[in-house]
Amino acid sequence: MMRWRIGDVTVTKIVELEVTGGSRFILPQATRDAVLPIAWLRPHFADDEGRLKMSVHALAVETTHRRLIVDTCIGNDKQQRAIPGWNGLRTSFLADLAAAGYPRETIDTVLCTHLHVDHVGWNTMLIGGKWVPTFPRARYLMGQAEFEHWRGQRDNTGQVAVFADSVAPVFDAGLVDLVATDHPIDDELSLVPTLGHTPGHVSLRIASRGQEALITGDFIHHPCQMARLDWSSAADHDAAAAARTRREMFARLAGTPTLVIGTHFAGATAGRIVRDGDAYRLVV
Ligand SMILES: [Zn+2]
Repeated sequence: MMRWRIGDVTVTKIVELEVTGGSRFILPQATRDAVLPIAWLRPHFADDEGRLKMSVHALAVETTHRRLIVDTCIGNDKQQRAIPGWNGLRTSFLADLAAAGYPRETIDTVLCTHLHVDHVGWNTMLIGGKWVPTFPRARYLMGQAEFEHWRGQRDNTGQVAVFADSVAPVFDAGLVDLVATDHPIDDELSLVPTLGHTPGHVSLRIASRGQEALITGDFIHHPCQMARLDWSSAADHDAAAAARTRREMFARLAGTPTLVIGTHFAGATAGRIVRDGDAYRLVV
């Protein structure tokens, strides 16, 4: 189990899925030949053949004031997912969460950095044929702009089903707080707008006793995007805005002691950003 300490705050990684390769659908420019020259990606973030390693995990954040989960992965029993392997999952995620010290009833806050399929799944669980809130005592924080965007969607990419089974039930149960993209949660946690991947995307800033961390969400999917600033995710809603956000965030973070904890980073998962020629590198 991976755990980090930022002042009085602890962050624990709860893994749902890890994959090596098969990530071209999300980062089409990251071919094996293009990844191999970026030597620092190995061994944590790529293998010796240039295949990217990625992870779907939640981050449990325990502070002086609250027990929060950032992004709730894909979830069990979901259907109509665009990625076939994400249908009907039966993972031990909830048991793993409890074993790490976070039984679901003890979670008081859930943050969805955005409302994509792999960030909202465990918002709900299937009980007696109905989707019910997994974290019944939690307030679920979602960006107002993000929520309005997805509520209005009528496309057939699978996001309509995602909203219906993983977002609407917690909203209808009165558990959702729609917040601004720069919402200050408390004196240790605050949202940072990181728009582009989706219209209301946020990251989470942690600050405690002079130490800082940033949980990325999907403004960056993989550390290779630090080395190749033009490698955009195929899932970016606004590719130009997403690229601008990455450049701004890397420039802001580079050379600082801020611990950057990646939402899809495999292996070490967290590190510090440093400048590397015209681009950046993650030091783990
Ligand atoms: Zn994602």
